Amino acid sequence: MNIPDFRGELKLNEPLSKHTSFSIGGPCDALAAPLDRDDLVTLLKHLAGERLPYFILGGGTNLLVRDGGFRGVMITLERLNEIRIDREYRSVGGAFAVVHAGAGAGLPRLLTYAVDHGLTGLEFATGIPGTVGGAICMNAGTADGEIGDIVESVTLVSPAGETSANGKEQLGFRYRTAKIPDGHCITDIKVVLRRSEKARIKNRVKELMDKRKQFQPAGLPSAGSVFKNPQDEAAGKLIEAVGLKGRTAGNAQISEKHANFIVNRGDARAKDVLALMKIVTEKVLEARGVRLEPEITIIGEDS
Ligand SMILES: Cc1cc2nc3c(=O)[nH]c(=O)nc-3n(C[C@H](O)[C@H](O)[C@H](O)COP(=O)(O)OP(=O)(O)OC[C@H]3O[C@@H](n4cnc5c(N)ncnc54)[C@H](O)[C@@H]3O)c2cc1C
Repeated sequence: MNIPDFRGELKLNEPLSKHTSFSIGGPCDALAAPLDRDDLVTLLKHLAGERLPYFILGGGTNLLVRDGGFRGVMITLERLNEIRIDREYRSVGGAFAVVHAGAGAGLPRLLTYAVDHGLTGLEFATGIPGTVGGAICMNAGTADGEIGDIVESVTLVSPAGETSANGKEQLGFRYRTAKIPDGHCITDIKVVLRRSEKARIKNRVKELMDKRKQFQPAGLPSAGSVFKNPQDEAAGKLIEAVGLKGRTAGNAQISEKHANFIVNRGDARAKDVLALMKIVTEKVLEARGVRLEPEITIIGEDS
């Protein structure tokens, strides 16, 4: 594949199992890593001209790629990863900093940056893996907060290569979702954080990490919660109530520790995870009358 004027890295036939936290997924035709926003525009214009399908890959921590892989180009914005303070101001409630982060920056790195600079507001993100771009797309969060709460603006690049700055109200943040128009790439964001005492922020992060360790399965690949929590009851509780904790398909297993996690116990395949998801969906609907919706994004083709 030749992309005129593209300066970034291009890998052909790249196994996506290397780029998902599930460690599952067949190859994509190409994985492209643009060097900066202009390079991304060059890439998108080329793909539009050639009518080639593409998908934006963040940290792959909320993603299930089918075993046959993805026919088209996966775009990683890992090079767009700058984090810096954009500006500071005083207002009711204290001193605030607006922090700029590239979409490819790790959310855990942004949290560490906030802690190191004595900035509070991002503690809810403790233990959430993935990138800043993925976090916006999924409105990542916990009961303690979500990224939509602290966003000031998000820069998008359209499939035609046009850049736009979008305020929080344009992004329609709701539970684990945001309105990102099809094919648009998030290239960077601005979040508003408040100055506070570093030791206090550090303690809160430690507290939240300790709490997470108690409920979250550690050590085995997963994609976090597989299903969204319905209005009235946690998805994990519903799955546990219908007796599916520990159920396996191939080497995929509904976690013994948290029933809304599916773990890869070795060489699990996407078809195993999908088989478990089908069993869960059917059983919870039949026994409890609740239709669970996937939280994870599923892409690609069967092998
Ligand atoms: C152990 C574990 C614990 C987790 N705990 C939580 C939790 O507590 N709360 C929570 O909300 N989530 C949790 N998750 C899920 C996941 O980490 C989040 O959804 C995360 O925000 C996804 O980010 P990502 O970069 O990995 O996105 P990916 O999985 O790579 O992609 C997710 C979606 O975002 C899109 N996307 C990614 N980057 C961009 C971009 N730059 N522009 C446009 N679209 C983009 C992708 O196309 C895809 O549709 C957990 C996952 C794991 C493995």
